[in-house]
Amino acid sequence: MTEPRVSSIGDLDLSAEQKQLIASVERLTRRFTRAEFLRCHREGRFPEEIWQELGRLGVLGITVPEAYGGAGLGIQELALVEETLARAGVPIVLLVVSPGLGAIVVSRHGSEEQKRRWLPGTATGATKFCFAITEPDAGTNTFRIRTMARKVPGGYRVSGQKTFITGIDVSDHMLLVARTSPLDLAHRTRGLSLLVVDTKAPGISRTRIDTQVCKVETQWAVFLDDVFVPEGDLIGEEGRGIRALFDGLNPERILVASMCVGLGEYVLDKGVEYAKGRQVFDGPIAAYQAIQHPMALAKAHLELALLMNRRAARLFDGGEAAGPAANIAKLAAADAALEAFDISLQAHGGNGFTSDYDLLDIYSFLRLQRTAPVSREMILNYIGEHLLGMPKSY
Ligand SMILES: Cc1cc2nc3c(=O)[nH]c(=O)nc-3n(C[C@H](O)[C@H](O)[C@H](O)COP(=O)(O)OP(=O)(O)OC[C@H]3O[C@@H](n4cnc5c(N)ncnc54)[C@H](O)[C@@H]3O)c2cc1C
Repeated sequence: MTEPRVSSIGDLDLSAEQKQLIASVERLTRRFTRAEFLRCHREGRFPEEIWQELGRLGVLGITVPEAYGGAGLGIQELALVEETLARAGVPIVLLVVSPGLGAIVVSRHGSEEQKRRWLPGTATGATKFCFAITEPDAGTNTFRIRTMARKVPGGYRVSGQKTFITGIDVSDHMLLVARTSPLDLAHRTRGLSLLVVDTKAPGISRTRIDTQVCKVETQWAVFLDDVFVPEGDLIGEEGRGIRALFDGLNPERILVASMCVGLGEYVLDKGVEYAKGRQVFDGPIAAYQAIQHPMALAKAHLELALLMNRRAARLFDGGEAAGPAANIAKLAAADAALEAFDISLQAHGGNGFTSDYDLLDIYSFLRLQRTAPVSREMILNYIGEHLLGMPKSY
């Protein structure tokens, strides 16, 4: 008896509910196809109707507790959604930021009043979060950020600049990392605060950054000029925002890893199908080990990344330390997806470089994931320092 083809070893552990969730997202991708995704990208248009549909399906409220209109599930389920979208070639980055980072930070660290105010809308899709940490001068060194939130009666006055902010044009709230006191080198983690800023507040302006990445969200340079933020919009304790922030960054890594695994599978499938159908000597090129072995290796690496990512998600949902697994999963998934991309492109020969085969647009998206939201180098620094106990290099 021949064994059935196992599409993913990680899927063997899924519950019936999780399989149903995947099936409902797969149904959605029959309407939100890769062709539609590319159309949105070309027109610079966010697929709002699909977002609303995800809201109706309950997907946007997956991480929101039931008391606030959500499903009360975890990052494991949200990661399955992102993976499924990416497997169909239609990754939605805002899913990482809004129900991922935004909703999780508010659920875990917001006050009762803040949860009531922000979570129900996030769960239905009526409102969205974007996330703003990067600044032109500070870059990877978050402690160097200069956006200042100055205490005034009733709130804060915020001034500064953020860069590469994804989706602020379609978002209602911006989860902003700002300084509430100057950098103190002796206590570097102090003085950073998390504020939820209304993206339409007076004093906020933005200019679009033209990236060459194929996706349905756009990036913006954001300028804050004396923007008033009510004190009720500070998340957690003033000057101690770093813990809440880190609670959001692990889910971000896990969701990015699931996007990479999904898109890696998508691009590898394209290569496999092409190789099975392409004949240049006797038999299909898929039979040549020069093609088949690199594809098999890429598949093995995608599977390994997926397993580490599922483990990271389980740890996070269980309230355990997820940092090491989430970082390794993100590193492995981005690398495996690029490996899959490269052999798929190679198998396509010259056709891989034509628009008809839609490969190079996938490269831009996958390659970005080695740089953002956390770079490969910073993950290796983390592993060196936290898993191997080696001295910090910076
Ligand atoms: C398309 C896109 C979307 C983005 N979306 C968002 C968003 O929504 N919100 C947001 O806040 N930001 C966003 N970013 C910003 C992104 O997170 C940063 O670009 C990324 O973190 C790298 O920071 P940087 O560009 O300042 O690079 P730099 O900090 O200048 O780093 C440059 C290079 O030096 C390396 N490097 C720096 N320090 C070290 C070190 N100590 N050891 C080893 N190597 C090091 C880095 O790894 C990198 O390779 C986005 C960026 C892009 C391109």
